[in-house]
Amino acid sequence: MYGASEGSFDELTQRRGAWRSFERGMAAARDANLPLRVSIVVTEDNAHEVDAMKALVEGWGLDHHVYTNMQPTFSGTGEPLLVQSTEFLRRRPVFEGCNAGVTFFHADPHARVSICKIGRDDQIDLMTEGLDGLRRLGEISDRLMLRTGGCSGCSLSGSCRVCRPLAKVYQEAKAPLNTYCQHGDTKEMVHR
Ligand code: SF4
Repeated sequence: MYGASEGSFDELTQRRGAWRSFERGMAAARDANLPLRVSIVVTEDNAHEVDAMKALVEGWGLDHHVYTNMQPTFSGTGEPLLVQSTEFLRRRPVFEGCNAGVTFFHADPHARVSICKIGRDDQIDLMTEGLDGLRRLGEISDRLMLRTGGCSGCSLSGSCRVCRPLAKVYQEAKAPLNTYCQHGDTKEMVHR
């Protein structure tokens, strides 16, 4: 969800009619009793509408999650970072591991499987490898989580707040350190 009104929603998505499509889609999904949870995306353009977005979702009787920290695109480009709301930039909790590639995986529209939507290196091609290819996911996950590349030798990796695949896309996007890495922490972030 990118806004609580037609003006802000269409502006952020840069698509006229996006808000109306969103409203229609949400109404249809609710009518169909789909299990829904709404992701509210906060940027500097719609930060003033956070409470209104939450109220709308709660009025629909749905759960929501508010995303305040913008991330680079999955291909490692930084356009989304340009709309980060500094007011809403939050310090993440320490990363304590995840089950990517163990209890779940991600598949793109071409049936290429990766451990999750962020860690897309070493994809398994289901069309050529078949389901047996999924057996390699655990080993791929272990390898991608190692603190390699721009995180090699980091003395703070034990208290890092992002997994290695996420750190990698931030690094590829040349993101400001304070958006993901402890080496960029400001006093305000340390004490927040
Ligand atoms: S603190 Fe920064 S450099 Fe260290 S592991 Fe985390 S993202 Fe990498």
